[in-house]
Amino acid sequence: MFSFSKRIIAVGLLLILILVVTFWVGRAHDIDKATVQAQGQVTQLNNYIDTELVRFSAIPQLLTYNLLMIDFVSGEHQHYNAINNYLADIQQASGSSDIFVLNTQGEVTASSNWQVDNTFLGSNFAFRPYFKRAFAGEKVAYFALGMRSKERGIYFSQAIYHEKKAVGVVVLKVNVSKFENDRELLNTSMASHFYLQLADDVIAMSDVQAWRLNSFRKFDITQRRNIKLRRAYLDHQPTYIEQFQYTSEGVMHYKIDNKLYVSAAKPLRYFSANMYVLVDVTSVNPAQLPRLFWASIIYGLVTIIGYSLLARFAGYKKLLYSRHSLEAKVIERTQELEKAQVALVQSAKLATIGQLSAGINHEINQPLSAINTYLASAKRLLAKGNTSALGESLVVIEGLVNRVHQIVGQLKHFSKPSKMQLRPYPLAGLVNNALMISSAQLKQDNVQVEPPQFDETVVVWVDSLKFEQVLVNLITNASQAMNGAIIRNLSFQLECFEERVKLSILDTGSGIEQHAFGNLFEPFYSTKSSKGLGLGLSISKQIIDSFNGCLSAHNRVEGGAEFIISLSNRQENKDD
Ligand code: ADP
Repeated sequence: MFSFSKRIIAVGLLLILILVVTFWVGRAHDIDKATVQAQGQVTQLNNYIDTELVRFSAIPQLLTYNLLMIDFVSGEHQHYNAINNYLADIQQASGSSDIFVLNTQGEVTASSNWQVDNTFLGSNFAFRPYFKRAFAGEKVAYFALGMRSKERGIYFSQAIYHEKKAVGVVVLKVNVSKFENDRELLNTSMASHFYLQLADDVIAMSDVQAWRLNSFRKFDITQRRNIKLRRAYLDHQPTYIEQFQYTSEGVMHYKIDNKLYVSAAKPLRYFSANMYVLVDVTSVNPAQLPRLFWASIIYGLVTIIGYSLLARFAGYKKLLYSRHSLEAKVIERTQELEKAQVALVQSAKLATIGQLSAGINHEINQPLSAINTYLASAKRLLAKGNTSALGESLVVIEGLVNRVHQIVGQLKHFSKPSKMQLRPYPLAGLVNNALMISSAQLKQDNVQVEPPQFDETVVVWVDSLKFEQVLVNLITNASQAMNGAIIRNLSFQLECFEERVKLSILDTGSGIEQHAFGNLFEPFYSTKSSKGLGLGLSISKQIIDSFNGCLSAHNRVEGGAEFIISLSNRQENKDD
């Protein structure tokens, strides 16, 4: 068995284990959730921007088919105002920033912003890749910083052909700040950021201002020179954004400004760049506290309930065990008591024999001396030949021998334990037998016996030997109680009811001492100092009980005691 302190330690260790598991499972769940959110957002954002870019990219293409435009660029009809107004209208309607036309030298010949102060008209963008590549026949989408506006934009350009010859380039510019301002696109429950990273790892757009035109990558000198030469960002040199990146379970984590993010990335379809969404998971650790709290509460409850159930179960087992051992003890004790009971009955019989032996001795000696006398006279009568007198003597001798037989016959009933045999016996015969056995004692105590005048038909269902033993005991007690009394009278009374008979043994002795009533039928209770064993009444009561009868006692009003035996006069099942 575990000691109490060991159990406490085990419970504590288990709690720590549960809290650690709860923390990591909860954290992993929250990070998964944030990652799924980032993936959803990046897809949503890309779809939106892709759709917009496709829409914008279609406009220069349309313009290249416009006859007014072809006439203008080819130099056939120089309708400046008409073409500038036309470009301004389309710029307005499309939501783009600027639309302008370049001639074969890369000079701006028409522009939607022809009326503003810093109009593009007259500027030369020949160095811009969107001009060179478009002029070479490519359909271009190019990110750059505006020379005049200094604003970041995506330039869509395409060449205008006249008689299968490139005669100019039409360019549409979209300011990327347009997308950055659409914050509702990042509609998340957790804080999040996005950035669009170009092929050269420079961030073209982001909701975080500090990241714009900078990079999460450290550029070496060559890369820096190349960037400068391209002039896509004019004189701006992208700076390195301090951060730490690592991959955990296939998910990219960023640590920027003491904040932790999980990321999801996806390339744009119509522009060579990758979109990234970062979801803030800095608070994912403190967010586990409520979970840890509830895990502790649930663990505590489960432990208390489990412990009380176990305690109950252990108590129940103990109870079961003690019940079993108690039952075993009861069976053992019952067997011991049964043995003791048999021994007691036997010793009581021996005691009774002891008490009676003196009287019986006298009783047997008397007929024996008479037999002796009659035998001597018979011998003489035989010598004389007086056969008739001899015959009379022999009859007397026969009678005397029978009497001795009877006395010895009664004694043998006490010599061995007898088995219970309930049979109907005439009550009168049983009482007379008992009186005969007790006659020596009665005679010795000078007791006057009123012989019972019972109807021979009155029967009781008893074991005759045991019942006689009870009667002998009651008669002997009555006889002894009358020792010293002036009137010594022993009598019997019988009352018959439908199913029972009530036999009373009445004496005129000292009566039962008042304090003796409580213990009268207890074993070894005796007021006869060394003379009495105190077993007679307890054994008698048990015997009567075993007949389904009842033995009781009280003092008579006129003096003396009355012992009442109530018995059934018909057969009863003893086990009922
Ligand atoms: P014992 O005769 O050895 O004392 P019993 O069990 O037969 O044991 O009797 C117990 C006690 O009951 C006696 O000691 C006596 O005090 C009392 N007792 C029994 N019978 C009578 C009676 N007829 N009259 C008065 N007292 C009696």
